[in-house]
Amino acid sequence: MKSTLPGVLFLILAAAASAVLPARGATRPAAAEAPLKVVTTVPDLADIVREIGGDRVEVSSICKGRENLHAVTAKPSHLVALSRADLFVEVGLSLEIAFVPGLLENCGNERVKPGGKGFVNVSEGWAALDVPTSLSRQAGDVHPQGNPHMNLDPRAGRWIAGKVLTALVLNDPASKSQYEARHADYGKRLAEAEARWARLGSSFKGVRFVEYHQEFEYFAARYGMVISGKIETKPGIPPTPNHLAELMASMKQAGVKLVLSAPWSSGGEVPRIVKETGAKLVELPNQCGSFPGTDTWIGMMDLMHGRLAEALGVPAK
Ligand SMILES: [Zn+2]
Repeated sequence: MKSTLPGVLFLILAAAASAVLPARGATRPAAAEAPLKVVTTVPDLADIVREIGGDRVEVSSICKGRENLHAVTAKPSHLVALSRADLFVEVGLSLEIAFVPGLLENCGNERVKPGGKGFVNVSEGWAALDVPTSLSRQAGDVHPQGNPHMNLDPRAGRWIAGKVLTALVLNDPASKSQYEARHADYGKRLAEAEARWARLGSSFKGVRFVEYHQEFEYFAARYGMVISGKIETKPGIPPTPNHLAELMASMKQAGVKLVLSAPWSSGGEVPRIVKETGAKLVELPNQCGSFPGTDTWIGMMDLMHGRLAEALGVPAK
């Protein structure tokens, strides 16, 4: 699967956007009291920007919650939103490489491009898992900088909130005290949530599971869960019949009783694997908005911990 949008399509998108409004310059001409216009790639980031930004931000997210983030298609409306944005916030680590580079290249808004004041990559400085030791397509083609699904790490909310605070203060220093107060309040609610998750997560240690895509590595690492196999042959590469046969045999042999998938990956081979191995399927979000109750990042984490606890028979308290 080619992961970048064809150039011709982008020319069309760019033309559509430029017909709507003129390109933004590197400076922010809007009145100081106007809210910052923020575009995020995933709803997780939109939620945390709203938490820290309050009424100082107007936020929209390109993804809505049920997409395979490695196969998102850009639309003219995304280009228009970016052309008007003061801030663009991405997860990074190549998670959004299918749609972000083309959008940034063609949005005509220098401010939100890499190196611009309004460009925010929240995984900058994050210690990524599974960083390839050699650049080879043998390892699959969608995780070139290591595992990019850091938004599913129970510790990511705190990390992202810090990055968002820094970016908002940089772009709107007059509202610094408001951002800091909201960040402190969010930090308190995160601390309560983190304690709740740690209590449940202590029961996840050593639990073995198979996942469709390499999405739950950070979550598993947090609690010492063991990933016994992946349904994809490599990240971004669908399974072959041979791979599936070997996987199911190894699951039966090792007694692996849990399969994790996300909304985009739960069809296809997953039901058959679950049926043939007698394992339990737990669908987890790959981003906010995947399921009802996951509109906020804290809500999403609550649902992830809750669904796993229920599947494993861990008492709620
Ligand atoms: Zn991935």
